[in-house]
Amino acid sequence: MTKKTDSTVFKASWSYDAAPESTDHIQIKSQYDLFIDGEFTAPINGDYFETINPANHQLISKVAEATSKDVDKAVASAAKAYKKWSALSGKERGKYIFRIARLIQERARELSVIESLDGGKPIRESRDIDIPLAANHFFYYAGWADKLSYAFPNRNPKPLGVVGQIIPWNFPLLMAAWKIAPALATGNTVVLKPAETTSLTALKLAEIIKDSGLPKGVVNIVTGAGKTGAAIVEHPDIKKIAFTGSTGVGKYIQKAIAGTDKKLTLELGGKGANIIFEDAAIDQAVEGIINAIFFNQGHVCCAGSRLFVQESVAKSVIEKLKGRMNSLMIGDPLDKNTDIGAINSEKQLKIIENYINIGLNEGGEIYQPDCDMPKKGNWCKPTLFINVSQSHRIVQEEIFGPVLAIQTFRTIDEVIEKANNTPYGLSAGVWTEKGSKIFYLSQKLKAGVIWGNTFNKFDPASPFGGYKESGFGREGGLHGLKPYVKFE
Ligand code: ADP
Repeated sequence: MTKKTDSTVFKASWSYDAAPESTDHIQIKSQYDLFIDGEFTAPINGDYFETINPANHQLISKVAEATSKDVDKAVASAAKAYKKWSALSGKERGKYIFRIARLIQERARELSVIESLDGGKPIRESRDIDIPLAANHFFYYAGWADKLSYAFPNRNPKPLGVVGQIIPWNFPLLMAAWKIAPALATGNTVVLKPAETTSLTALKLAEIIKDSGLPKGVVNIVTGAGKTGAAIVEHPDIKKIAFTGSTGVGKYIQKAIAGTDKKLTLELGGKGANIIFEDAAIDQAVEGIINAIFFNQGHVCCAGSRLFVQESVAKSVIEKLKGRMNSLMIGDPLDKNTDIGAINSEKQLKIIENYINIGLNEGGEIYQPDCDMPKKGNWCKPTLFINVSQSHRIVQEEIFGPVLAIQTFRTIDEVIEKANNTPYGLSAGVWTEKGSKIFYLSQKLKAGVIWGNTFNKFDPASPFGGYKESGFGREGGLHGLKPYVKFE
């Protein structure tokens, strides 16, 4: 093989045969009803909407659209179930939650395939990250159910009642687990709405919940879009709203419940800073940059979408980054080789493409690998912009796609100021050989999660959440129990 030194070296070195995951073993019904009071129930108005595969635009199934009357039914069922569920001992509640966790594990392969079909993410991610982490969340909070008096010593924690939970489309089953597991562990009952483009794994979770024998009405899953979500937010018998989604909808929700006694947690957008110091292990950092921005096509609220590289190493980091981008495999989400799958929806693809145009019009210098893209479906090449500055819109605004904006810095103080110059405050990453620098930056960066020499690592025992326009409240860990209890 001739030795190449340019940035195409990875691509020229090897190729892979397709390795698609089989879909024979999964069952998807042609139509799904709402999951209310332990049964699949037709929506009152009889309306269904289509859920399509973003990688080829084929129809996968139809899903019920819940109106406010259906939401009323779901809330009534959850309110009825609350009396017995909240009176059960923590140990008994824990048994059900453990059972749900084990059933997710048993059906992990099926859930992974459906997650990739419905949402477009690579099977490697749904198989190795989304679904195992969803099971882990249930295991983790099952463990807390009978230990709440240790979690909150001398404070006598009590559940709130019926909680309304609204989740986004980027990690569908995982977000359902983040919401449902702590709510059940603390004795609340639930009405959850998945996002309209990715309802299927939540509906599979409804099947699992049914199989687990969880008492009827403890978890209700209603499908639909913004109107259905608004009906949950505005329902007078709901005691708490947990929302993960866009900052725009988060602001609406905050206004909608102002003046009521509902509790609220919001996990919203982000524009994470990923900071590479000159003393970092550069090859690992490049891998970290790739993971920070291209994981899940960049549909990640904590994505490292603003890269800051110390000036002395910027040239070599950018060159290595381009080389690594050339080796990324874009295509069939079900292929086990795929690194970058389909953009979740046409709507989101348009938003990303619009931002790429904005970046170009503002004078940014773009780099995209020269790779083939599938003809059908929603696809976007991994993209980076150099020669951008703090005032560029692609540096300030959340794109929620595989688009990275790169800036350089000289000193620690400069990078802290630049990294904090954002309306968001969800995540950041610091790459350096020096632990002391990581600790110093962790104090100075205004972000809820700061990773040291890694990025996008999640664990059920770690709290996650933001500052400023990234929202408030924490999910995960001991902190994640608190929004679901009151103290008497
Ligand atoms: P995105 O802009 O990325 O689609 P959204 O914030 O719109 O993200 O969606 C996150 C979740 O919020 C989805 O389940 C969506 O259906 C829901 N949603 C959208 N609009 C509203 C609303 N007005 N009230 C409550 N939920 C909403």
